[in-house]
Amino acid sequence: MSFSIVTTNWFRVSLPLLLLTFIAFGMNNVINLTYANLGVVSTLPFVLFAITIVLANAFKQSRIAMVATALLVSYWVIQERLQSPLSSGTTILELSLLAALLPIALLFVYSFKDSSLFTRAFGLYLFKLSVLVLWCHLILTYFYEGGFENINETFLYVIPEISKLPFILVVYLSAMVLLFAIFVLSRNSIIDVVLYSAALLSALTFVFFHVTYISSTMFSLAGILLLVYLLSASYELAFLDTLTEIPGRLALESDLKHLGSKFTIAMVDIDHFKSFNDTYGHDTGDDVLKLVAAKLQQVGGRAKVYRYGGEEFTVLFKGRDADYARDHLELLRASIENYDMVLRNQDARPKNDKVGSKKRGVAKQLDHVNVTISIGVADSSESKRVTEVIKAADNALYKAKKGGRNQVCIA
Ligand code: GH3
Ligand code: MG
Ligand code: MG
Repeated sequence: MSFSIVTTNWFRVSLPLLLLTFIAFGMNNVINLTYANLGVVSTLPFVLFAITIVLANAFKQSRIAMVATALLVSYWVIQERLQSPLSSGTTILELSLLAALLPIALLFVYSFKDSSLFTRAFGLYLFKLSVLVLWCHLILTYFYEGGFENINETFLYVIPEISKLPFILVVYLSAMVLLFAIFVLSRNSIIDVVLYSAALLSALTFVFFHVTYISSTMFSLAGILLLVYLLSASYELAFLDTLTEIPGRLALESDLKHLGSKFTIAMVDIDHFKSFNDTYGHDTGDDVLKLVAAKLQQVGGRAKVYRYGGEEFTVLFKGRDADYARDHLELLRASIENYDMVLRNQDARPKNDKVGSKKRGVAKQLDHVNVTISIGVADSSESKRVTEVIKAADNALYKAKKGGRNQVCIA
């Protein structure tokens, strides 16, 4: 997964742009194709968004469903209300309202957590969308009565060579797309990519609204990308450990199938973790596991860390031997030893002070706690068989525990 280029932030920002470049070069073909299959192509976005919403419910990805719903409503508005020439009636005003409000509807998504669709949160999102639609309806009624035909010539400046949309909206849409792109580059989670793609493709539709069949083309592409992201989100979810949010056992087993002939496996085990739980409680134990997992991920040497199970982790060095791994693992061991973990739960006090102070590897310091780890390491020099290397690493870990814990032991 994280060895793969397709999940890097730059790839994720570039993918929609790359697809757009292909489409731009073949836009004449797209127009001909659309013209020949008008009924199918213009309903395609509806179908794609509907499938996305149903699948998002099954995969409990309500935020992707929110994006699909916002795009579905927008596409419906385009098909129902914006098919007359831009100069007639309130068409340009309606397009401007849509262009202004869709990015805001997309930003709303950030205030939610993922769940299934039959929840209050999803209902609340639908309510927010309805408020935006109602507000537009009021504006249109009001302006229509007051007459608002000269929107272009009055205070809103238009550069027709670029877009029929007021120029201020072109700037606004560009800024919003840039903002979403920055989210992808800095955080690179699936929902960022979903929102960025939706913002980019809808912005292009609004800015270049005069291009034939642009809405069905861009919204179809958005629908396809949404489905791809939905599937990859579910895939990632299955491979991530739910507690620590680092790759889990399934990810490890999958990556172990694609090892070259040279690799090093390190088994990491937290020392005296049972007594830590007994002392501070299971919830604090869970918090500590999360902190330790996050710290382990900072291991150098291009290694990848997995939660093997319980309080055990695996560090995988591809194309490296144990000699190379040793230095990085020693630094890792020391960094955990010196890591003062601040407990989120201020009430977390040892339930049994005797147990707390007797055990090595668990030290109580007000609301700080410390743990240590033992590491067993083996590489592929003796045997190329993964199961045997893991066994050797396990034996080395056993030796590290026997030898007093808080140490790295090489097979
Ligand atoms: P050692 O130094 O020999 O490894 O001692 P230990 O107590 O860590 O070893 P042992 O394997 O006997 O105990 C592991 C403990 O880890 C048992 C369990 O209480 C705790 N543990 C395992 N998984 C979790 C978890 O998901 N959350 C919490 N809070 N504790 C866990
Ligand atoms: Mg253990
Ligand atoms: Mg342990």
